[in-house]
Amino acid sequence: MENQLLKPTLYTPAGALLGGRCTCGHVFFPMQTHGCEVCGRYGADLQPMTLSGRGKLLSATIVHLHADKARATPFTIGKIALAEGPVVRTLLLDRDREIAPGTPMAARLVPIGETGLDLRFAPEG
Ligand SMILES: [Zn+2]
Repeated sequence: MENQLLKPTLYTPAGALLGGRCTCGHVFFPMQTHGCEVCGRYGADLQPMTLSGRGKLLSATIVHLHADKARATPFTIGKIALAEGPVVRTLLLDRDREIAPGTPMAARLVPIGETGLDLRFAPEG
């Protein structure tokens, strides 16, 4: 049985992110048609755009204790400025390693659980 993408509305099987672009030029993630946060256009003025899944780490923090006791710790959350402009807050592949701000990062699909695939960011290369 093939592994299933856990969030197929957010990324492709190749690990590209499913974002969008407004006719004003603003690029956003994830794709939505409710309204551009820069100019307010909506609907057909917002078109799907595939984002590379590459960017630079702005900051990261290692979580050692989570309110949900079932949630395995440690894990690392990073804030990443994507190459196309949007900033995302996301899980990093390395659960407990310090990574310096400015490090080039890339999205990867990794196995989660028995049959799932989900996106994590890790240093490029
Ligand atoms: Zn706009």
